[in-house]
Amino acid sequence: MAYRICLIEGDGIGHEVVPAARKVLEATGLPLEFVEAEAGWETFERRGVSVPEETVEKILSCHATLFGAATSPTRKVPGFFGAIRYLRRRLDLYANVRPAKSRPIPQSRPGVDLIIVRENTEGLYVEQERRYLDVAIADAVISKKASERIGRVALKIAEGRPRKTLHIAHKANVLPVTQGLFLDTVKEAARDFPLVNVQDIIVDNCAMQLVMRPERFDVIVTTNLLGDILSDLTAGLVGGLGLAPSANIGDTTAVFEPVHGSAPDIAGKGIANPTATILSAAMMLDYLGEREVARKVERAVDLVLEKGPRTPDLGGEATTETFTQAVIEALKAL
Ligand code: ATP
Ligand code: MG
Repeated sequence: MAYRICLIEGDGIGHEVVPAARKVLEATGLPLEFVEAEAGWETFERRGVSVPEETVEKILSCHATLFGAATSPTRKVPGFFGAIRYLRRRLDLYANVRPAKSRPIPQSRPGVDLIIVRENTEGLYVEQERRYLDVAIADAVISKKASERIGRVALKIAEGRPRKTLHIAHKANVLPVTQGLFLDTVKEAARDFPLVNVQDIIVDNCAMQLVMRPERFDVIVTTNLLGDILSDLTAGLVGGLGLAPSANIGDTTAVFEPVHGSAPDIAGKGIANPTATILSAAMMLDYLGEREVARKVERAVDLVLEKGPRTPDLGGEATTETFTQAVIEALKAL
């Protein structure tokens, strides 16, 4: 039986990095069947909706989805909604898993191997804002249910790793009601995971510790906006956005995507670094149960990162194409 993979390029460099990752997936030799779907700003401009219903249906008909990037305008556009934020809510992809691992490049700090598990459905991302004259208010929603399920995902991931350590990053000292509920709920869930060493850490201290001693972290669980910020920080520690993969996981399906956006400044030039998307594809293989192949893809990427050719974001001169070809050759030699 073949794995059915939904591919959504989206916007900007999504059109370059998703086809690159597809070639690497094809080179694994696994039985894969690809289903293409559309979403994002270009789709909105063409069809008046950023995620057509048929895209949701295609995702649900597949085992997993690889998503490139979607542009969101910074101004408010009537009727527009961000594609990935919509999919996270619509498909209840409540866990955003963002690993940060040292890579063999000068831009990467050594000794880092951590995973940020970010709650993906609530917090400030309920997008409920209003304005009264010169005062603006945003709601942050924290529920026991969402905190518990994200807590369990993080605890399970921590339990399966050698160090079995989970930090709960929070700001309950200032927001004891919302952040406090999150913290208490994850701690309560932790009673079912006696092997995991659970510690809580205030998010600002966590940010500092991540810069000073990132190697002491294993798994970090946190709320939506805090996780958004911390995971960009950890991406920066290990070489930047071009290298950072992520997964949006729910109970029925999962959507894998690079942490970076559509990078309009370099789109169409053929120089985008496809590593983040290739590593996201590797996470997808892991999710599908193809752990060995996933590890091989990651090793092939590391071999090319180490020896080159490298893309311009890492100081090299490779194109998306030549980098991808080198990864495929490394993969075939493994
Ligand atoms: P969006 O609104 O879609 O998020 P953005 O302008 O915020 O777009 P990002 O994609 O978030 O752009 O990227 C931020 C910066 O990092 C840009 O300068 C971009 O060129 C660079 N960048 C992001 N991804 C890559 C990549 N895969 N390869 C090379 N450079 C990248
Ligand atoms: Mg961006």
